[in-house]
Amino acid sequence: AKVAGKNCYRFYSRAMDQAVERRVHLEHELRGAWERGELSLVYQPVFCLVDDAMIGAEALLRWQHPERGLVAPSVFIDVAEQSGLIETLGPQVLHAACEDAVRWQQLRPQGEPLFVAVNVSPRQLRSGDLPQVVAASLRETGLSADLLHLELTETAVIGDEAQASNLLTRLRGMGVKVWLDDFGTGFSGLSHLRRVPVDGVKIDRSFIADVLRDPDDLALTTAIIAMAHSLGITVVAEGVEREGQYAILRERGCDLAQGYWLGHPLPAAEFLALLR
Ligand code: C2E
Ligand code: CA
Ligand code: CA
Ligand code: CA
Repeated sequence: AKVAGKNCYRFYSRAMDQAVERRVHLEHELRGAWERGELSLVYQPVFCLVDDAMIGAEALLRWQHPERGLVAPSVFIDVAEQSGLIETLGPQVLHAACEDAVRWQQLRPQGEPLFVAVNVSPRQLRSGDLPQVVAASLRETGLSADLLHLELTETAVIGDEAQASNLLTRLRGMGVKVWLDDFGTGFSGLSHLRRVPVDGVKIDRSFIADVLRDPDDLALTTAIIAMAHSLGITVVAEGVEREGQYAILRERGCDLAQGYWLGHPLPAAEFLALLR
């Protein structure tokens, strides 16, 4: 028994070591990945449900690892967040997205301007210099502030609500739009919206996934739309994969939508080609 116990201990400790080791490896390899050209942005179009027009796109980060292949953002964003790497990576992403968005407008001088939505992690939000970082990107690229949307997760603004709302007010004062991402998953409830000043909410795709089958999910989605509209807030649905979902969201008065049925995320060059 003693031996087995010992082996057991060894087994667990080795498994743990491996998990830690993998993280340390990933962190090490992520350092400088942007400079080596392994990281890039893809853009997923966002559509207006009133007239079916494309009105903007969300920037999503991709890591093409030289040996591991494509690493999921759900894995490496977390590593970047935990290690603090996000504080250098975040501003690089923001700058690149603004730069790309300026090109989009140049391609369609007569068309409606297209916004770019950029994900901002909780750590970037807490870092304190987000307004300066945003201002620098806008200044250096010349993107009009109202064409930049920042997506913050609901959980990032929970906690110190006063401080968060202060920061969001500053950002919105600069003219950028602030959206709450993954809305409905953070248990903060709709009352949260009264205290945190945002321009829009993105209903989490876990609600959209079952909106045709699960009456509860439809009721929740409808309630979010009604509540948001009563506060003057725009509603975006993400993860629209079928025409039926699109139809019911439009019927319920949802403003904007994105998802595989409408358009997959595209590499920057392909997204540009789509605009031509
Ligand atoms: P998110 O912000 O909720 O992004 C939406 C995710 O849903 C993306 O996954 C997108 O590819 C995926 N998606 C879009 N349409 C559909 C659909 O119809 N069905 C399904 N099942 N999925 C759809 P992705 O690109 O793997 O990103 C995962 C998460 O990683 C993002 O979730 C975001 O939280 C984070 N992330 C990605 N890029 C960045 C970034 O530049 N900065 C930060 N801080 N986080 C990022
Ligand atoms: Ca997002
Ligand atoms: Ca989301
Ligand atoms: Ca459900």
